[in-house]
Amino acid sequence: MADKTLTCLSCAQLNRVPEEKMASNAKCGKCGTPLLPKAAVDVDPAILEKAAKNDDLPLVVDFWAPWCGPCKMMGPEFAKAAGSLAGKARLVKLDTQKHQSTGGRYRIRGIPTVVAFERGKEKKRQSGAMRAGQIVSWVRG
Ligand SMILES: [Zn+2]
Repeated sequence: MADKTLTCLSCAQLNRVPEEKMASNAKCGKCGTPLLPKAAVDVDPAILEKAAKNDDLPLVVDFWAPWCGPCKMMGPEFAKAAGSLAGKARLVKLDTQKHQSTGGRYRIRGIPTVVAFERGKEKKRQSGAMRAGQIVSWVRG
């Protein structure tokens, strides 16, 4: 019951993590990648879909692209927020230029757009650049 399901953001393996290990350095049973990174991680569409569907921890996705100025401004802020939220939520980034159909699939109309998924459902989304503090309170709120 206290176990939490987390998708490995590197190899897509589903891991069961005991609650008491959520604060520590839990690693993927298959590839050894830390499951609770303190930084924002780049993901591909398959891992995003699997994590959004299965994770017990909120998954916060920054839909961005390299050509987008506000996205670049928000990058370091998003990374900082990932550090503050480590163990509470996982922050990931999806490059909508590299994965164009994924932006359409998640109905992303403008970037940056941040979407929070919780237990298989989209909980909320926010468009426009945010500062680290805003991202943290938005995720927690
Ligand atoms: Zn793994």
